[in-house]
Order: sequence, then C-alpha cells, then structure tokens
Amino acid sequence: MNIADIRRKKPPPEAPGIFTPELLDRCISCGFCLPACPTYESTGVETSSPRGRINLMRALETGLLPADDPTVLEESSFCLGCRACESVCPAGVQYGELLEEWRDHLWNGRRRPWRLRPLLWAVDSPRRVRAMGTVRRNAGRGGEAPGPVNLMLGCFERVLYPRVSRDARALAPELAAPAAQGCCGALHAHNGELARGRELALELGEALPGTIVSTSGGCAAHLAGVLGRERVKEFSQWMVERSPVPTRLEPSKNGADSATGNGAAASKPATRRLRIGLQDSCHLRNGMGVFREPRELLATLGEYIELPSAAICCGAAGSYSVLRPKDSARVLDPHLDEIAAADLDVIVVVNAGCYRQLEQGIKRRKLRTRVIHIAELLAESDAGPNESSNGHGEVAPAIVVTQVHAGLEQAPQLPARTP
Ligand code: SF4
Ligand code: SF4
Repeated sequence: MNIADIRRKKPPPEAPGIFTPELLDRCISCGFCLPACPTYESTGVETSSPRGRINLMRALETGLLPADDPTVLEESSFCLGCRACESVCPAGVQYGELLEEWRDHLWNGRRRPWRLRPLLWAVDSPRRVRAMGTVRRNAGRGGEAPGPVNLMLGCFERVLYPRVSRDARALAPELAAPAAQGCCGALHAHNGELARGRELALELGEALPGTIVSTSGGCAAHLAGVLGRERVKEFSQWMVERSPVPTRLEPSKNGADSATGNGAAASKPATRRLRIGLQDSCHLRNGMGVFREPRELLATLGEYIELPSAAICCGAAGSYSVLRPKDSARVLDPHLDEIAAADLDVIVVVNAGCYRQLEQGIKRRKLRTRVIHIAELLAESDAGPNESSNGHGEVAPAIVVTQVHAGLEQAPQLPARTP
C-alpha cells in the first residue's frame, strides 16, 4: 500500500479516535519537511521522516496497522520530538501535538519504556519535586508568596543546575521565586501521559499566577501551550523585553575572560573577545519562535559565532538521551565537531536538557569549551540587575536592541544536507 492509498483510506466508524482529526488531516504529503528532519537525514528512510510518521499515524487511526506494529513503535520512539518539521511546513501541521497524541496512545502499560518510569514518578508529585529542590541551593525561597512575575524553578534543573535560577533572579530581581511549585508537566506530556502533563501545567499555573518566566525552553513551550503564550516567557525573552541589554563583557585583569570561569582562556591575549556559541532549545525555537532573543543578548557579551547546527536538536530531546543513548550521541556528534572547529570559549544553552547533553559530550571529547546557561553567562558578565526595574514586578518597556548579530532578521540557515 502506498502513501496515496493510506491517505484515501477513511477511518472506520469504530475508529479508535487516537488523533485530533484536524491535526492529522492537515498534512498534504508535500515532503518539504524531510530535509529538516534529523532522523530522516541520518537514515534516508521515509518512515523515519515527518511525512512517513504522519502516514504511520494515519494507518494506526484507520486500523491498517495495530498499535504493536514494530515500525509504529520504533518510529514513535526514534523521533526526537524536536519539531523542526513544524517550522518548515507550508500546511501548518502541528507535529508536536500529533506526537504527543501518538505516544499517549502507544506508550501505555507494557509498551511504556521502563526507563521512563522512575523519571515520571520523580516529577509527578509537586511534593517530591519540592523535596528534590531542598537538596541544592536554588533561588526558591520557602514561604515566599508569588508575585506578578514568577520564576519557574523547574524539576531537574533545580537539582542539577541550581545556580541558573539564582543567577536569573539576581539579574531580574522583580521575579518572585516561591519554593512551593511543582513540575510543568512537559516530561509527562511528551512521554505518553498527555492528560497528566496538562494537569501539572495547570497546577503550576495556579501556584504561580501572573506571568511565569522559565529558564528552560522546553518547559516554557509546554507551559505556553497549556496556559497561553501571554502568560509564559522564556528567560532570554524576558530579559530582552524588560531590560537594557547588558554592557559588553570586559576581559578580566589576568587576561582571561571572566565568563570562562575555569580560566580556560588564560593563555589567550588580554584583548581577545570571548568566543560564544549557542545551542537553541528545539521547542523554544520551533514551538515558541524564540531564537533572536538569546542571540541578541550574547552578541553584547563577546564574539557571537553562529554554529551551522545551532538550530538543530542536540539529541537531548527530553527523555531521548535516556531512552536512546546511542542515537542521542549520534545526533550530538556534529555539534561537538562544530564546537571544536569554532574553538569556542563557551557554548550557551537555554534548556536544562541541552545543558546536560552538551556537558557530557564535551567531557567525553575533552574539549576546552565550557557549557553555560545564558543566565549564568549574563551574571558573570557585568550585566548586573536592571536599574529600571523597581523590584515589584513593574517592568521597563520593550527596548530596541542595537547590537544585533548580522543575519538575525532571518532564522539561521540549516546546513546543507544530503538527499
Ligand atoms: S508535515 Fe507539512 S511539510 Fe511535511 S509532508 Fe506534511 S504538509 Fe508537507
Ligand atoms: S519532530 Fe524532529 S525528528 Fe521528529 S519528525 Fe519532526 S523533525 Fe523529525
């Protein structure tokens, strides 16, 4: 049976109703998304492309294929969920939502990957998430009431990278950071527990009324999808909208750029500007359309270098690096090649999963580049808190950023790919 046959086939009256029909019908099978898909690029196999996966979904919906079909199961897991296909789709296919519905149907009972279970369990209860947060000194303050603008502490981020929220708060003191907040539910929504994922986002929305600022792009995109774009800002987006752009990072007295922290640049001349790269967060970029903001901020701190793969998934992809470590490492490899070739001092991340993924890869390769969150790098620069903020959640009007890196008016181009 070919693609046309699958498209012609109508769901039987007793169709399981796995997918929202308008979402599934929107794909016109044009194939524009194929060159943007990392898994298609690496395999050249149609079923490992967005169009191929949508046709598998259709086959599932119409009963042509059962839920335990090996290709259906494999492709639901092999997909990174990066949503790069969405940003190039002329028909406006919301692939991310389709993938959530797909996994919600498939990844149940015995079909749920066993490695997922402890992860989902750990973040399922706001009480457990808060308890995890007490282990490390993050920005969360017990007893602090929510304000008009609130900093989301994340679940794993508050344990693995507690400095991120501390620095975010130091840079934007108008952010309240009550410790009494749970997980945003992104992990659940992307891994077969869609209803629970939405529930957790709504609970977080109640715990943090008003605007929520997230230092993790993936969490911001999920929250924005449930609570609405007007209520959610990613940290770099917030910083660009509310504050003057920080002044340029000055080299420290010993000749090393202070933001390298580990003194990696100590052997470089004092006048050398910090060489900065960025790894986009897929959901932030492809889901929320936020990619200019971090670049605008970074261009004020040193020499911003646009890596060819900056916009492409690094392989962290939520739980992907846990579920498919070999594939995840394969996706990461070209990023590490580019970081090494560009001789970066720092590679900046805007998402906790990318932080971990790049840290581990760079350690494995023994590269000199330091991985750092954008809030940490801004805090290490001479950015300082925004004087125009009164500390009560009132913010300065949006500013015009003048030091925009050349070419930011358009999305950075994807590197040439093999057919
Ligand atoms: S997902 Fe979009 S770009 Fe890809 S085949 Fe369908 S309509 Fe075309
Ligand atoms: S989400 Fe990413 S990996 Fe999955 S089909 Fe779309 S582009 Fe390919």
